[in-house]
Amino acid sequence: MKKSKNEVSILKGVPLIDWYNKFVVPSGNKYRVMTEKGVGVCPFHDDHDPSLKVWGSKNVFHCFGCGFTGDVIITHMRFKKLYHGEKLTKEEAIKQLASIWGIQLIEEDIISDKSIFKEGIEYIQKDIPSVFNDLNIYSYSIFNTKIGKVNDINKRIKMYQDLDIRIVSKIGG
Ligand SMILES: [Zn+2]
Repeated sequence: MKKSKNEVSILKGVPLIDWYNKFVVPSGNKYRVMTEKGVGVCPFHDDHDPSLKVWGSKNVFHCFGCGFTGDVIITHMRFKKLYHGEKLTKEEAIKQLASIWGIQLIEEDIISDKSIFKEGIEYIQKDIPSVFNDLNIYSYSIFNTKIGKVNDINKRIKMYQDLDIRIVSKIGG
């Protein structure tokens, strides 16, 4: 399966050794700081000799004890579930890691509930009041990006109207 751009940014931007030292080391006395050799005690089985190894060029963990293999996203998801009871989706794991490591994510799914923001309402109301007069909706980032850049007013109204139908069905109005 093709990796998303955000996924690739995380895989490149979060070294597993850093991840291990941030999450695994503070979780128990038996975990020592992982040096650049990338060998450590595995958090996924009752490990006493360091069995976990980072395959440097691939930035992938492999454990010779329990057989676990995973990149930083998979490892993070498994660790969070086992140690914190947090069941993260892949997207949530990507967001967590991005915020900790200061990695900028791109908005890949602009018509998602999470991309709603209120500021856009004013923009729309000023721009084409007749279209949205009766609608109590929130704007999506798309208003300030793609549609906002279309100069032909009729084309814009058409785009707003098309989007309007999608928003209403999404919100359930
Ligand atoms: Zn293991």
